[in-house]
Amino acid sequence: MDSNLTTIVVLVTVIHVVVLALMIWIRVRRTEGDGIQVADAKITPCAVCGEPSTDWCYDGLDPNEQRDPHTGRVWSADVARYRPVCAAHAGARPAHDHPRDGAADVAAA
Ligand SMILES: [Zn+2]
Repeated sequence: MDSNLTTIVVLVTVIHVVVLALMIWIRVRRTEGDGIQVADAKITPCAVCGEPSTDWCYDGLDPNEQRDPHTGRVWSADVARYRPVCAAHAGARPAHDHPRDGAADVAAA
């Protein structure tokens, strides 16, 4: 039993050291990645106004677009249908996005 306990303690210690090393590696790696992401967001202009983009927005042009049954918002499974937008345009609905209820369509027509 004592040798089993010793084995377990050694194993747990080794695992802790490995996890610690992994955490340090992830931390160093993430800092590097974050810097690259911030740089990319700054140089990608908003598709609407040209300001630095902070988000990605569906352009509403996917022929196979999906609709969220809970929110009624349309979205696309095709990442190519997303364009960079700034904070001011991130919440704006795409021009081709029609409201789900027909009443608004009648009012618009
Ligand atoms: Zn914009």
